[in-house]
Amino acid sequence: MTTTPEQTIAADRTVRLLDTTLRDGEQAPGVSLSPDEKVEIARGLERAGVAVIEAGSACTGAGERQAISRVTDLDLDARVTSFCRGMKGDVDLALECDVDGVHIVVPASDRHVEGKVGTSREDNLAKTAELVEYATDHDLWVEVIGEDGSRADLDYLEELMGAALEAGADRTCFADTVGHTGPERTAEAVSRLAELGPVSAHTHDDLGLGVANAVSAVSAGADLVHCTVNGLGERAGNVALEEVAIALEHVYGVETVELEELYDLAQRVSRATGVPLAPNKAVIGENAFTHESGIHTDGTLKDDKMYEPYAPETVGRERRLALGKHTGRAGVAATLEEHAVEADPDEVAEIATRVTELGDRGRRVTDADLLAIAEDVTGDDRERVVELLDLNATSGGAVPTASIRLEVEGEERVASGTGSGPVDAAVSAVREALGSMADAELESYHVDAVTGGTDAVVTVEVTMVRNDRSVTVARSEADITRASVEAMVDALDRLLGRDAQPLAPADD
Ligand SMILES: [Zn+2]
Repeated sequence: MTTTPEQTIAADRTVRLLDTTLRDGEQAPGVSLSPDEKVEIARGLERAGVAVIEAGSACTGAGERQAISRVTDLDLDARVTSFCRGMKGDVDLALECDVDGVHIVVPASDRHVEGKVGTSREDNLAKTAELVEYATDHDLWVEVIGEDGSRADLDYLEELMGAALEAGADRTCFADTVGHTGPERTAEAVSRLAELGPVSAHTHDDLGLGVANAVSAVSAGADLVHCTVNGLGERAGNVALEEVAIALEHVYGVETVELEELYDLAQRVSRATGVPLAPNKAVIGENAFTHESGIHTDGTLKDDKMYEPYAPETVGRERRLALGKHTGRAGVAATLEEHAVEADPDEVAEIATRVTELGDRGRRVTDADLLAIAEDVTGDDRERVVELLDLNATSGGAVPTASIRLEVEGEERVASGTGSGPVDAAVSAVREALGSMADAELESYHVDAVTGGTDAVVTVEVTMVRNDRSVTVARSEADITRASVEAMVDALDRLLGRDAQPLAPADD
């Protein structure tokens, strides 16, 4: 907790999160989740302790209703809900999915009341009350969202939400539907609605103010915050669940969810949606706990907290030292130690110089690069354990096939494999040839085209893990299968070649 005594959000406030990754998040361009994916994400949200899971929009279609039903069948502790437009038919469809509750979305701004729905303020008020009664009569938990609330006349918004509560709604929601407003107007609107009853906040990030507005809403009295994993959602997205959670806990001491689950959740959602995690984002970005600069690495090695607001383990992650043009001696020494490579101070200085030179050419320096440099500098030549002699892969027939020839500890081994594509086939051939030695796991696999033409050279970067030790290798080739296999064989060679016990930390 980092605030002063006059902070606006007391640490003993109860604030819960509503996740709408499966509804508003899925409305992001190009995103579509299968029922299985929705179930997997819902389980992750449950592990994290999210209070409400908006599982979808029952009116979308039969497939969507099946997906929502699969989530309600899980019998989670979290309340499972469906989005409903302001019509009885939508509430009926939500009931078919056996949800615990509904979000009834009614127009709040004149732009929506008159321009979109074509009704009047008075009729909208009456219809909202009628719908709320209909839903509560069916034993549903009801939240009424005033769509485009941030651009509404606040007097009317207050009247509309008051009518909803009077008709029996459990809570209302202030919605900055188009991400248009700032913290001050959010606070004004939310504090007026909080006078009437429990209120939620639904903020979007079009101005980059999603978190600021959510925090402002909480300080004005909101006790449920709508958000999505990785900030997925229409346009610039909803406010990110992981950002709201860490901000409320780190700054105000308000606990909302199990923070250690956040990274796992982020990766699941990224895999299911195909939307990669932006490297520079808070909590979930590849770079969020990675230090490359010499000054930062050196400082971090002396004191973990020197260049980090909170420990990476807080959100289920680990600190990484990256090698590149900004790397200094301390970073090189620490990485060598991780790989159990011994080098004296002069050798470390020489290795650091060469790492910087390689980084200067615009390259990320992988573990394999570092180890090759270290062997060159220390003169510690080692025998390869695994070497690729020959590779043949075809995707012409019905089943992609690959055959491979490896030298393993001086002995030649031949194997073949099949797979969903030539890379997959070649990788299974490598595993076949190595037998029980292939017990390393592929942690990540990235492909980058270096040039944009059909003659592009591709760079494949793999990270493999065995017995808690990981090695990253990058290979550039014209052929993606060859680049993939070479990178993987090199990583296996490094992992198998050295007893993986890291040395005890050196005294220095
Ligand atoms: Zn929204």
